[in-house]
Amino acid sequence: MELGKTFDPKSAEEHWFQLWIDHGYFKADPNRPGPMFSIVIPPPNVTGALHLGHALNNTLHDVIVRARRMQGDNTLWVPGTDHAGIATQNVVEREIAKEGKTRHDLGREKFVERVWQWRETYGGKILHQLRRLGCSCDWSRERFTLDEGLSLAVTKVFVGLYREGLIERDYRLINWCPRCETALSDLEVDHKETQGNLWYIRYPLTSGGAQRASSAGETPALLLDAITVATTRPETMLGDTAVAVNPDDERFKELVGRTVRLPLIGREIPIIADTAVDREFGTGAVKVTPAHDFNDFEIGRRHQLAQISVMDTRARMNVESGPYAGMTREACRKQVTADLTAQQLIEKIAPHKHALGVCSRCDTAVEPMLSYQWFMRVTKPDATGQSIAGRAITAVERGDTKFFPQHWENTYFAWMRNIQDWCISRQLWWGHRIPAYWCERCPDAQPIVAETRPSSCPRCGGGDLRQDDDVLDTWFSSGLWPFTTLGWPERTADLEKYYPTSLLITAFDIIFFWVARMMMFGLKVNPREADSLAGAVPFKHVYITPLVRDAQGKKMTKSRGNVVDPLEIMEKFGTDAVRFTLAQLTVQGRDLVLSDERLAASRAFANKIWNAARFVLMNLEDAPKPLQPFELSQLSLGERWILSRLDAAIRAVTSAIDAYEFNVAALSVYQFIWHEFCDWYIELSKEPLKAGGERQAATRFVLVHCFDRMLRLLHPFMPFISEEIWQALRPYLSDSNVSEHLAVASWPEPAERDPLSEMEAEAMERCIAATQTINSLRSLVGHHPGQRIKAVLRLSDVDGSLEAWKPYAIRLAKITNFEIGATTHERRPGIVFAPLEWGEVGIEPPADFEFEKARSMLQKKLTEVRVHLQRNQGRYANPDFRAKAGEETVGEIAEKIEQLKAQESLLQSQIGLIQG
Ligand SMILES: [Zn+2]
Ligand SMILES: [Zn+2]
Repeated sequence: MELGKTFDPKSAEEHWFQLWIDHGYFKADPNRPGPMFSIVIPPPNVTGALHLGHALNNTLHDVIVRARRMQGDNTLWVPGTDHAGIATQNVVEREIAKEGKTRHDLGREKFVERVWQWRETYGGKILHQLRRLGCSCDWSRERFTLDEGLSLAVTKVFVGLYREGLIERDYRLINWCPRCETALSDLEVDHKETQGNLWYIRYPLTSGGAQRASSAGETPALLLDAITVATTRPETMLGDTAVAVNPDDERFKELVGRTVRLPLIGREIPIIADTAVDREFGTGAVKVTPAHDFNDFEIGRRHQLAQISVMDTRARMNVESGPYAGMTREACRKQVTADLTAQQLIEKIAPHKHALGVCSRCDTAVEPMLSYQWFMRVTKPDATGQSIAGRAITAVERGDTKFFPQHWENTYFAWMRNIQDWCISRQLWWGHRIPAYWCERCPDAQPIVAETRPSSCPRCGGGDLRQDDDVLDTWFSSGLWPFTTLGWPERTADLEKYYPTSLLITAFDIIFFWVARMMMFGLKVNPREADSLAGAVPFKHVYITPLVRDAQGKKMTKSRGNVVDPLEIMEKFGTDAVRFTLAQLTVQGRDLVLSDERLAASRAFANKIWNAARFVLMNLEDAPKPLQPFELSQLSLGERWILSRLDAAIRAVTSAIDAYEFNVAALSVYQFIWHEFCDWYIELSKEPLKAGGERQAATRFVLVHCFDRMLRLLHPFMPFISEEIWQALRPYLSDSNVSEHLAVASWPEPAERDPLSEMEAEAMERCIAATQTINSLRSLVGHHPGQRIKAVLRLSDVDGSLEAWKPYAIRLAKITNFEIGATTHERRPGIVFAPLEWGEVGIEPPADFEFEKARSMLQKKLTEVRVHLQRNQGRYANPDFRAKAGEETVGEIAEKIEQLKAQESLLQSQIGLIQG
């Protein structure tokens, strides 16, 4: 097989992916030998299109999975999608809105059918895109949270928890989206800093005035005929059932126990004292609306206040709001303000910033609403005395599940230790319908909760049963994902072999939504009925991916217009280059800054490998297939040196992958291929390749051996180009049992003994150092890179290895010879010297080289760099500037300072060199 002049990513990507699939390489078999390694994909929403977060996450998945597969593990990566209740329902609602219809026009059954149709047509898009990325999932095991098996599991878990009293239906205040017309969990509410107002409203006392308590320095006997409350939501006053003050607030001592007449409505409501009232807020007196505010709800419970809901499910005012009935809450606010103003009951309206809760799906202001919902009692102890949340906390405390980077454990603990009951019901049509049935003839009875629809009511025997209208929060089913995808509740071979899973890779923003819920469900349901907590965690390691930022270090957002489309960059730079860049930039605990330069550099890396492969293949034209193998003892110093470096690379990449240090792993591959194999070994090989005979054969063997091993190391990062080159090299490989494709080739292992002695290793280090220094001197004084020059070497110690490495350095540095100087530092004018750790090396500059001119040019550059450096250091140290500039800019400046410092020291050392 011949390699074209340039690498064509597109054809390689399509060709090799299809071939891997056709050979069934990604299919898992629980009966295959080898240690188990399993991962379930964080199921993307069926509505999703591949974004950079997915691309990063799944690249990291694939790096690990491909490496483990090559290491001989029995590897499984389960793919699939999430039905994404509210998101998908919204998409289809928008679609039918174009036809001028709402879901109510279609009715539940027809609407749900329509969503399934939508899913058939568009729901596979994201999985197709993941294939393009090269993901080596077992595509025959694709799952969907609403497929039959998973739905069965959802019902089983719900019924089990209900029977244990850990799921119950309750009438509580919950977050409600009036646009989506559904309950939301606390997590689905975003908080937006909003410029609003504080309305100061006077509530008249019912009978006469009251004496205000006097405090020091104040005139006593100030007569009050009203109490002024401050509120951000005047329209909810229609549902007020009290006014509250702090019991320690002297200003209101006399008023507690009295009543006021609620303006506009006329209801008489008490003034109560409650410690939850903040004396500093507004006037110190607040209105209490238990049906529309979470704090007020709690105050109301403590004081047995009535709960009067004044809005319907679309946040329009209902009959309880009297003359305002039928208005939207926004219109009602205006009218209430106008009416209060007319009655001179508004004391003032002051601007006020506060956090407004909005629906995370549609941005509509959330309304706290009283309603019947289903709750999961996550902190209630079960028969064993442990709560669902408690187990999930203990497991991480004990290290049964570990986070990488570890500090994310704190985020997890902070939330888990303050966790509230989880509102799991949603008033949607798309999702798992709650397995509760109501008897039409027993209206006051509790519903019947059962895995299958009961044929009759156990109380009255009637057969007229109606299933609960609500569906479950979409995170209920994704919380069961690690074991339902493996076949639970059946006791499958997959579950036996692959559960608990080995690793979860996900983004920090779903630690609560998803990671915590999987932990809770996994430990409670205990799918393998393991006898210890440790056996029941759904995954042993959790790797949290970094946040991706743009080249300027800014967060990517739609509004900034700086969102990078992974498919576009895959098209432009090739999928291998995108994957390599993402892995290379993934440092634990740091944000990932993506730029076109980085992507272009990875593409250049791919081209470098391609050209190296072409060089090697060109030199194999008349070589035997397979090549004649060689023993270490038959190889030269240079050959054994590259084998030794290869072993170091194998060790570095392997241990970095084990530690999830993706950047270290990628850079170790890069370093070996570019800077050791291409820069040094290929150069060293040129002469023996021309020599013919045994020397040529040995060099060919070493070239192919190294190339083979480095392609194996590269494969998890750049699967396509590595497979394509490997296929061309494969006929020359001398190992027995070589696999048909690189995707399933074995992971390389380093030799037990280092191919180089310590002295030999040092000799090669000296050779490289001398060559590098000569090359930088050469460019500093302006010699042509190919120009053969004379070099002077002075040694500060006796170098016994000199004779071994000198011929290599002469070849690599393109010098005519080394003139070996004495150990004394006698300098010769007209030669430019540079220091080495063990001596110094010098070259003659070209005849027209002007020391003075070169020095003053470098000096001028140095002055410029220092001016820039000082300016940036000044800004960095200035607290005013830092406060205004924001974190991102300050970070950019810090980076700039580092770059300038590096330039400064480089220029300084160059000036030092041409002192002559
Ligand atoms: Zn909404
Ligand atoms: Zn009944």
